[in-house]
Amino acid sequence: MAIALFTLGGTISMAGSRRLTGADLTAAMPGLADLGHEVEIQDIEKIPSANLTAAKLLEVVEAAAKAVADGAVGAVVTQGTDTLEESAFLADLVWPHPQPLVFTGAMRNPTLAGPDGPANVLAALRVACSPAARDLGALVVFKEEIHAARWVRKTHSTSTATFQSPNTGPLGHVVEDQVRVLMRPQRLDSIQAHGDSARVALYTVTMDDDGLLLQGLADTHQGLVVAGYGVGHVPAALAPVLGDLAARMPVVLTSRTGAGSVVRNTYHSPGSETDLLRRGLVDGGFLDPYKARILLRLLLATKADVAAGFARYA
Ligand code: ASP
Repeated sequence: MAIALFTLGGTISMAGSRRLTGADLTAAMPGLADLGHEVEIQDIEKIPSANLTAAKLLEVVEAAAKAVADGAVGAVVTQGTDTLEESAFLADLVWPHPQPLVFTGAMRNPTLAGPDGPANVLAALRVACSPAARDLGALVVFKEEIHAARWVRKTHSTSTATFQSPNTGPLGHVVEDQVRVLMRPQRLDSIQAHGDSARVALYTVTMDDDGLLLQGLADTHQGLVVAGYGVGHVPAALAPVLGDLAARMPVVLTSRTGAGSVVRNTYHSPGSETDLLRRGLVDGGFLDPYKARILLRLLLATKADVAAGFARYA
């Protein structure tokens, strides 16, 4: 049984002006022969991950689903790290299969001393074919750590230890050739992917924010994610602006802090979480603003109930 490997570009493939293929990435990788599985490669894109679209990612997920239906034990996707947390979370939301779907990349390109790509791909392949990693949905494997796509963040612009799960820690580790899964989060039902995509804005609240940028947003967008202060607060003057928007489209409240959740019933001043929820904003729970935007787009595209969707997945 094979492992399917899909390549999308990013730093992991950047050898100067040359773009490495999956065959280049796996050639002469120590340990590959001992995996006991063929690696079936599909080179899809050679792009910086800033140019990756949800539509393209969903095509790759569909190709991975076909590969597992045809007998692959699991699948690995390599891509740029910049958007990897969004890709992996989107894939996780739509992946119903028991086989692991593993995302990885590299922070140091192959022309630098100590590139991390080969080790990351080898660890990702080990996880993709491990029975221990079944039924965990989409995963991110980086620096020998296994992270749930649902909670992982890119936390550093240059460090090879950039992928962290601030709310949960890693689910497990790759130790020598062993895949050790220490925690198994509850698997949620997948959402049926849909071709249509909704236009969802992401708005980070800042000091002296008067909300001018939000004017007219409901005419151009179908949804909004607000990255509020702390546990989900905005300046008092912004609260009615957001309330008016929430009357016209889903507006999801998240925290811009990078870890922890918004709260529901602790503060009561204008612009606080209770005020905003009363005005119709949706509780974004533990999802960071980027992931909340991915979920909101998917829920809108599938015409699902947004509040129920966030209650379930956030
Ligand atoms: N800018 C690159 C990208 O995301 C960074 C990386 O691959 O790590 O494509």
